[in-house]
Amino acid sequence: MKLKVGVLFGGKSGEHDVSLMSASNVIEVMDKEKYDIIKIGITKLGKWMIYTGDTQNIADGSWENDRECTIKEFSIFDHPMINEIDVFFPILHGPNGEDGTVQGLLKIMNKPFVGCGVLASSVGMDKVYSKILFENAGIPIGTYMSLYKSEWVLKSSKIISSIEEKLAYPFFIKPANMGSSVGISKAHNRDEMLEGFMEAFKYDSKLILEKAIDCREVECAVLGNKEPRASVLGEILPSQEFYDYKAKYTDGDKSTLIIPAQLDEKTTEKIKDYAVRAFKSINGRGLSRVDFFIDKNTGEIMINEINTLPGFTNISMYPKLWEETGISYSDLVEEIIRLAIEEYNS
Ligand code: ADP
Ligand code: MG
Ligand code: MG
Repeated sequence: MKLKVGVLFGGKSGEHDVSLMSASNVIEVMDKEKYDIIKIGITKLGKWMIYTGDTQNIADGSWENDRECTIKEFSIFDHPMINEIDVFFPILHGPNGEDGTVQGLLKIMNKPFVGCGVLASSVGMDKVYSKILFENAGIPIGTYMSLYKSEWVLKSSKIISSIEEKLAYPFFIKPANMGSSVGISKAHNRDEMLEGFMEAFKYDSKLILEKAIDCREVECAVLGNKEPRASVLGEILPSQEFYDYKAKYTDGDKSTLIIPAQLDEKTTEKIKDYAVRAFKSINGRGLSRVDFFIDKNTGEIMINEINTLPGFTNISMYPKLWEETGISYSDLVEEIIRLAIEEYNS
């Protein structure tokens, strides 16, 4: 009997397009002898559809317009195709997908699903709460502040001086809950700060502001449930001033991934240890990619963030790191599905 896997893709988030790319690669690599794949797409407006057409039409978004191949009106709680699903694979990035909301829905449906549970997903998505947990787990973090829109509106002049005092320019402005660098900017002066706040508040009513570090960026993939493993490390050489959306996806050939990262053994082992600790600190399950900064001037290692549903195209860092560690892309997909079922039965 084939295992019925419900793949969720798209989503009502700034990272919709990234999800489409990851999902189409994952579906293509899945062994059709072993898996029956039910494709469930979510439009940018948040409409859920079952898609029965060609996987090729997912990446460019044209699946949505294929009327003959979409089932639009269905209840996720009660449709014959949904009821039969053995395990869900949410390939959704950002809010409403990676942040515990969909995970909560799947939990209520009482189905196994790939990746982190509700708590790990939601704290992993929130860059402020995750930093609190990382610090608590003894992992070094950089200097940061959080800022709510309501505070900003009421006390902007007071806040400006405390930010300038604590962080100094340049600093990073990020929506607290987002990914793929959406809404992120680097402020070099007050004007850029004001502009950066406007942009970031479009995506979240809470921001995180971080002192800019002159750094190397190193990433580690974590895989497993209660006894997670760390992969070899990879380094990113961004094509832009920082690893922004353009450098990640549109300028892909210019941002370079170096795998394995050229680091001494002590630093490598330390980062791998921090990666596993970070995963455990949020109560992670299945998979996560943990990203670090190494200060170019002091050599200090700091955790930047955890991504509980990292980019998963065949050229993304997460699968590449496992490939170098000895697990192929298709074996990796099988393993995270197996982990989902193991977790459900535990
Ligand atoms: P996302 O979740 O959107 O990937 P990140 O926090 O990883 O957000 O930020 C995106 C990129 O911005 C990072 O990969 C890095 O290039 C740059 N960046 C973010 N924070 C800092 C920082 N404090 N110092 C230096 N560069 C940073
Ligand atoms: Mg992220
Ligand atoms: Mg990042």
